[in-house]
Amino acid sequence: MNNSVKKKKIAILGSTGSIGCQALEVVHEHPEKFEVAVLTAHSNADLLIKQAIDFKPNTVVIVDETQYEKVNDALWKHDIKTYAGDESLCQVVEMDEVDLVLTALVGYAGLKPTLAAIKAKKPIALANKETLVVAGELVSKLANENNVPLLPVDSEHSALFQCMVGEFHNPIEKIYLTASGGPFRGMKKSELEKVTVQQALKHPNWEMGAKITIDSASLMNKGLEVIEAKWLFDLKNEQIDVIVHPQSIIHSVVQFEDGSMKAQMGLPDMKLPIQYAMAYPNRLANSFPRFNFLDYPQLSFEKADEDTFLNLALSYRALELGGTAACALNAANEITNLAFRKSKIGFLKIGEINQEVMEHCTFVKEPKLNDYIACDSEARAMAEELVLKNA
Ligand code: NDP
Ligand code: MG
Repeated sequence: MNNSVKKKKIAILGSTGSIGCQALEVVHEHPEKFEVAVLTAHSNADLLIKQAIDFKPNTVVIVDETQYEKVNDALWKHDIKTYAGDESLCQVVEMDEVDLVLTALVGYAGLKPTLAAIKAKKPIALANKETLVVAGELVSKLANENNVPLLPVDSEHSALFQCMVGEFHNPIEKIYLTASGGPFRGMKKSELEKVTVQQALKHPNWEMGAKITIDSASLMNKGLEVIEAKWLFDLKNEQIDVIVHPQSIIHSVVQFEDGSMKAQMGLPDMKLPIQYAMAYPNRLANSFPRFNFLDYPQLSFEKADEDTFLNLALSYRALELGGTAACALNAANEITNLAFRKSKIGFLKIGEINQEVMEHCTFVKEPKLNDYIACDSEARAMAEELVLKNA
């Protein structure tokens, strides 16, 4: 078999989530291009088993060890290797059978497997933005040293990347990350005090996992994306701007030194950026719905309200501070996001607690991996305490 027809073997970390399931749809649509080498889940054993029987990976990992027996009982007869525990995530990404690692798991849990994959010189299709928020400097440096591409899956970053293809030698003046503004766009603090979890979970344009949907409502998601963009594209903080664009048709914009602006557009559908990262540098024909200009006679733009949506301002502050500041912010946000989803705190407390943790957590200016790990634990503990106080 020559290289041009060789299938790309993909490890999907977090295959049972929103991005993971859509990645499997992409594989299903292009069986001649992709095959699945590894599937992993946290605890959703039933879906993991079903996916494994459908896609026949070499190996699966269920992180939650209490689910291991069930997964193993179902899959050994299909000749699929099964492992449990989070350390296994780091081991499976190193396997010879893997050509590309799609990090579609949520949160800080993505950091260690991503580092392991980079060290094993596996190209990364990166959905798990939290990894670059927590330790962007370390991760991007390691990726450079190992000559490992970090291919963005996040729609805005995929848009920027697509605008940059063919322009890598041309300096960028600035980028605009577009933001839908989420379900609470235009609201002021007095109104946000009363919003419910159900309202926050109703995103106007995208269907996503619960954590990122709440992050979108609180503009934390855009803040995380500002930090993600810095490390993916090696930008200075002042080169990164956010513009609210409620229709989510322009996915982001790159402005070059001559003032020319390139934008990438399309209907809001994550399958396209997922497929682009999986197939890069190729584009693959597909049957996804197409955009029609006349369905959207007006595309509009607004300034982001950083006074009301504190998290966006906090992300820029974290970039200014550097070191472990963004790691502390991310850890606090993982706790406050969940606490809000469980109705333990009100919506505005998310930003307030995140701020307090970022300001008071031990700060290390030039962190090593252990400093990030320590910062994450300390910030989580502080945030938990503040959640209890504010409950
Ligand atoms: P989901 O919550 O839908 O899925 C998360 C996946 O990760 C599931 O497979 C879950 O397993 C697994 N998982 C959860 N916790 C852990 C853990 N501690 N260790 C290992 N695996 C774990 O998330 P999304 O698909 O929405 O998001 C995934 C990532 O992609 C996030 O970083 C998000 O910011 C990013 N992203 C998502 C977009 C979207 O449209 N959804 C858009 C852009 C970026 P289980 O099912 O067993 O719980
Ligand atoms: Mg995004």
